[in-house]
Order: sequence, then C-alpha cells, then structure tokens
Amino acid sequence: MTDHEQAPPVDRAADGRVPGELGRAHPITQYGEAVLHRACKPVEAFDDALAALVEDMFASMHAANGVGLAANQIGVDARVFVLDCEDADGVRTVAAVVNPVLHLPPAPRELMVDDEGCLSVPGAFEDTPRSTTAVVEGFDAHGEPVRIEGTGTLARCLQHEYDHLEGTVYVDRLPKKARNRALAEAGLR
Ligand SMILES: [Zn+2]
Repeated sequence: MTDHEQAPPVDRAADGRVPGELGRAHPITQYGEAVLHRACKPVEAFDDALAALVEDMFASMHAANGVGLAANQIGVDARVFVLDCEDADGVRTVAAVVNPVLHLPPAPRELMVDDEGCLSVPGAFEDTPRSTTAVVEGFDAHGEPVRIEGTGTLARCLQHEYDHLEGTVYVDRLPKKARNRALAEAGLR
C-alpha cells in the first residue's frame, strides 16, 4: 500500500470512526492471573458501558499489535471479544462479538496445524491444531446479530478468542512439554 491509497473500507465503522479511536489501551493480563482461567459472565445489557469496553478492547488490541483480544485479557469478566484479522483468502474482518456461540464442523473435522501465539503469553509461539473452518454467532456492541464465518487465520482467531471466554488459553491445549516451553519463553515459568 502507498501513501496515496485509501485504507480499506473495513477499517472504519459505518459512522466513519476507526474502532478503538475513542478507547484507552489497558495492560494485558498474563497467563496465571485468575481472570484468564475461568469462564466469563454473559453480557446482560447493551449499554454505554459495553460500548466503552469494546472501544477499550480495540485500543488495547491495536496497541499490543494483536489480531484478537478477549475481555478477560484486560481483566474484565464479560463474554466479549474483538478481532482484526484475515481469512485464508486475505479478506480482513474487523469485529466485536458479544455473547458468542462457536460452531465447528462435526468430528472428525479437518485440522490445520500452525503457529499460534497469545498476548497473555507474550513472545511465545507453538504449533497448535485447530479446525480449518469455524463460525461464530453473537451480537455487536449495539445488540445487533453478528455472524462470522472464518477460514485460515480468522478461523484460528475465532477459536482462540472463544476459548478465552471459556477460561482456556491456547497453551492449555498443548502437550505439557510445549506448554512449559511457551510459558518459559514468556517468562511466566
Ligand atoms: Zn489469546
């Protein structure tokens, strides 16, 4: 991209804002902090506080150069995640999902093994198997239904962020040796 090209339209919300520009970046919680290791509470009100949380989550994700962030990664016990990543065809999705439900193809499903990392286990990457496709249904910050069908990195991100809301960090899915290696690389062991 050159300076003269416009940013892709998906960068901006319908009202012309960049998601997160009203938000404040928060510190990212790290593996071992209790809020990351229990299931998050469903959101009950689509109010100003939720809209502010979503803005802070986008700001925090962008400040940390992440492609996805769950609310408990900034210490908030709520079933919300945001993402900004590409699918297998390079199509970018920027979205917030509240009270998501994850749908995976029936087993035995096709898996892809690729490097996965997490802002809460900083600096570590480990081969992690994931379903090649995933669908998430939920709501945006205003309570409007959202459905995201993902392939490639987007599918991986949907599964990773949904896991966070269930209290699972990707390293919890790894064999013990790989998990310990990742935590040691992150300085958490
Ligand atoms: Zn993560």
